[in-house]
Amino acid sequence: MLAGKTALVTGSTSGIGLAVARALAKAGAKVMLNGSRPAADAEALRAELAAEAGGEVGYTAANLADPASARGLVEATIAAFGSVDILINNAGIQHVAAVDAFPDETWDQLLAINVSAVFHTTKAALPSMKERGWGRIVNIASAHGIVASPFKAPYTASKHAVVGFSKAVALEVAEQGITCNALCPGYVRTPLIEKQVVDQAVVHNLPEERVIREVILAAQPTKQFVEADEVAAFAVFLCSDAARSITGSVQLIDGGWTAR
Ligand code: NAD
Repeated sequence: MLAGKTALVTGSTSGIGLAVARALAKAGAKVMLNGSRPAADAEALRAELAAEAGGEVGYTAANLADPASARGLVEATIAAFGSVDILINNAGIQHVAAVDAFPDETWDQLLAINVSAVFHTTKAALPSMKERGWGRIVNIASAHGIVASPFKAPYTASKHAVVGFSKAVALEVAEQGITCNALCPGYVRTPLIEKQVVDQAVVHNLPEERVIREVILAAQPTKQFVEADEVAAFAVFLCSDAARSITGSVQLIDGGWTAR
């Protein structure tokens, strides 16, 4: 479905980003991986995905908290594959704390990775998409791009920003064959969430199974995690030609969370 297309997936050495990268490679795209994993580990992952899909897969380490590195990641993808047709802005971090106890440097770091990097990679990738008259940008936001949770104010602010940014970019490039959408998952079991399960089990003095059902998935009516593969399949669809009229949209895959 995506043969001949090139894709950059930020934060794709783990969790949702890895599942999206794997699905894009299987759909025929050349894929550039990125993340903050040690190089040897990342190389093994790159080789695994390439063998699985029988296509080209690259890896570029880049710290997205740094604007020059974020731009450099797009440049490296263009140097390797000739273009960036698909940009999946996925890298993100979370930190759970009350606003009045939230460390200033963590706020800066969270906004740099979750929001500013999305601006820098999009800015750097758009000329390549405009040149070819085709592009797909999928920004992995969150149900927290629509609703809020206490102790997650910076994360909530960052994901609301990504939703707004996605809509505005979509309007700017609507006549140029480029779509831009925000994809908003509910809780997906990834390393980002595993850490919260462990932390909350200590805070609430509950076994992990009860933390998952009563704390983590309290807001998710299905009482089941969304699987990373489900998010990946949705992202691949948004990158297809069949989704060419879906732009500026906020797509939920949240087990019913935001229906309340
Ligand atoms: P994860 O922790 O499993 O993976 C995060 C990825 O981002 C990793 O590859 C990591 O290396 C990379 N990364 C982190 N900081 C980076 C940096 N400075 N530079 C480059 N790469 C960096 O997380 P995940 O749960 O897969 O989350 C992926 C995205 O999905 C995030 O934007 C997150 O906010 C969003 N999301 C997650 C959930 C969930 O329940 N897991 C729900 C909604 C939205």
